[in-house]
Order: sequence, then structure tokens, then C-alpha cells
Amino acid sequence: MFTLRAAVMWTVNDFPAYAMVSGWSTKGYMACLVCKEDVTSGWHAGKVCYLGHRRWLPWDHEWRGKDKEFDGNTERHLRPREWSGDEIGEQLNRLDFSPFGKTFSQTRPSTHMNWTHKPMFFELPYWSKLKLRHNLDVMHVEKNVFDTLVGTILDINGKTKDTIKARLDLERMGIRRGLWMNRDSDKARRDFAFFSLNPNDKKEFLKFVSSVKFPDGYASNIARYVNVDGGKFTGLKSHDCHVFMQRLLPVGIRYLLPEDVVKPIMLLSRFFSQLTAKTLRKTDILQLRRDIVQVLCKFEMIFPPAFFISMMHVMVHLPEEALLAGPVNYRWMYPIERLLGELKKSVRNRSKPEGSIIEAWVQYESLTFCGIFLKSSKPPSLSPPPPLPPTSVDLDRARHIAGTPELPRRHRRASRRDFFSFHRIGSAVILPPPATNSDT
Ligand SMILES: [Zn+2]
Repeated sequence: MFTLRAAVMWTVNDFPAYAMVSGWSTKGYMACLVCKEDVTSGWHAGKVCYLGHRRWLPWDHEWRGKDKEFDGNTERHLRPREWSGDEIGEQLNRLDFSPFGKTFSQTRPSTHMNWTHKPMFFELPYWSKLKLRHNLDVMHVEKNVFDTLVGTILDINGKTKDTIKARLDLERMGIRRGLWMNRDSDKARRDFAFFSLNPNDKKEFLKFVSSVKFPDGYASNIARYVNVDGGKFTGLKSHDCHVFMQRLLPVGIRYLLPEDVVKPIMLLSRFFSQLTAKTLRKTDILQLRRDIVQVLCKFEMIFPPAFFISMMHVMVHLPEEALLAGPVNYRWMYPIERLLGELKKSVRNRSKPEGSIIEAWVQYESLTFCGIFLKSSKPPSLSPPPPLPPTSVDLDRARHIAGTPELPRRHRRASRRDFFSFHRIGSAVILPPPATNSDT
């Protein structure tokens, strides 16, 4: 017996769950938990958008003095200040939160800003001393950024941020005259933007994507999700977006869009590629921190303000988190999503999902422990089974011993049951001579 001690280092979750574990709402004008009330946000095309990434540029950068190229204003603000855990704890202690439940009013007073409750993590004695308490999940950020970017440059109906509302918003702001609604005829028309692919180029791009072949196990069959005639993608999973963003997008759009648009997209692609690498160097992350600000500022000059959803903004904080907590692959949702997927597959009785999962998990653990036990046992007077890992069991030999017919090639993948039957047979039966063709 021993006393098990555990410590919560940080939380990993998607953006909506971020609000629950951190206590800071991720909706409204102050959605960013890192920038808090200091974030630059505004109402554009019927929703809150987050611009102002020039604040991360050096004070004397030439882009700070430009106005028409950006949102019509020059930028004189410094980057938002960083809050320490102690400061946040003190702030939360000063606020008075109403109890949970429908009987109490959940309307927040303005003094609370986006704080909805005090997270229970602050009861841990070390929690306020941590530099990084909640991770921005790079998997979801990359997926959302990809959806927004590709939806806009392919002008996919329902996904593009370059809508009529966005164009009217540009007119209201008095910027980018070239993107205003075309009112030459009696009806106003939304012309193709310079950052969108025209129908022929779009078809060419989708044909390229549907023709790509990846090595086995590298990615799923992305061609399955491409609808060339419909001009859209359907059902792309997070990992497909991950591969698409880093491998296909920079190659596919290279000669189809203007150079000014292609360059920041390629830089963004390289940003995610380097950020999600298994090994990170400090100098590389510092470079990524500068790169992502350049990318976002260039996007602000290209795309309408409606393009800048909160997921676009949080990219600016990703290198900072990598500097504090190291490589992203230990802090993102892929392994968790994979495990949850496996657990979900074990549900047989849909009215009792938890019971099914527990039963399957107990069986899995029992088999694992039995496997470890049987592998290490060496019965006397018989030759021990060869020390092969489960995936490289000689199935033909095992089946020959067991007297079962040989399976067709497509069924030859070693399963856990094969592993057990092989070891049981190998330790209990003296091997007969190999069968000849006339026997079978
Ligand atoms: Zn922020």
C-alpha cells in the first residue's frame, strides 16, 4: 500500500470548455482569456470580431501608422498586459458571484467583466503560482482557422466570411473600396474578391486535392471528402484539416492566388507545421511569435473584419504557451479524442453507455494483465514460446498447431486472441511436423 499523490499541471480543452474550467466566458467583446478586458474587439457584420494585431508589432513599425489599409485607424496601443495567477486570484476574491441554479439571477454586473464564477482550481495551494493554467487546444484552433480560411478563399457558401454583410461593413467603415458591393445595375451584386478563387481555379484546386495520395497511415483518404462539382468539402475531420493545412494548402494555391495573398497563407502553414513539431527550439518559437503577428496583420490588410473570429485571434498566444510549456503534442486533444473514440466504440447497450464502457475496460485490463503473466511464465520440460511481440506473432504456425484453417491474407492481422492462443498452444503442445499440401 502507498499513498498516491497527484497534481493538476494544467487543463487541456476546447474553447467552449475553456470558459467552464477557467471561469472566464469565451463569448462577447472580451472572449480572450489571455488579453481579458484589454482585447481589441468590435461589432462587424452582425458579430463580434477581434482585430488590432498591430499591437504586437514594435512601437516604431511602419504598419502602426497606416489606417485605410487596416480598419481605418492608426494603432497606438501597446500589446495587452499579462496577468499573474496571484492578480487573477485577488480579482476573483473581490467579486461576489451568485450561486448556481435557475432560482438565482445569472445576469453579470459590469464589474465582473467576463468572470462567471471562481474556478475550484484556485483552492489548490499552488494554482495561482502556475505560469500556464489552461492550454489553448491547438487541434481545435487549427481546425477552426482552416475552416474559416479555406471557406473564404474557396468562397464556399455558408462557410465564407466574405458575405454581403461583410461587404456592407466595409462600406460603413469606408475602407477597401474595391470590395464594396457592385451597384452598376439596379441590383447590388457581390463580385469575386481578389482573395477568392474563381470557379475554374477552384475546380482545378479541388481536382488537385482529390488526386493526392498519402503514405499508408499518414492521413485518411481526403479525396473522399472533396466534392469537385459542388465546389466544397464535406465532413473533414480535425486531423484531415491538420494535414491539409500543412501539406496541401500551400502547394495547391501557389499559382492560383495573387502573391500577396499566398505568402501569408504559406507563412501560416509553416507556423502550424513548426509549432506542432515534436522538437521545439527556443529560437524557433521566438521567430514563430514574430511570424504569427506578421500573418495576422497581413490578413487584416487582405480579408474583411468579419474574417477575424476569436479563433483567429488566439493564434497570437500559441507561441507564448509553447515557450512556457513545451511541445504542443503533449498538450492537445488528439490522444484524448482518440481514447474517447475507442471508449465510445465499446458501447453495446445504448441505454447504459457507462456500464458498457466499464465492462469493456475491465475486460481490456484483465486481458492485458493475463497477457503479461502468461508471457513471463515458463513451464518446465517444454520449450518456452519465442519472445515475440503481439503484432509479430507467426499466425500460420499458431493456426497450424491449433488445427484451424489458414485465413485469407486480408484477415491475417494479429489480434489479442491470436496472441493468447499462440502462447497457450506453444507451451502445452509438442509441435507436430509441418503439414504438407496433400494433408490439406
Ligand atoms: Zn488575446
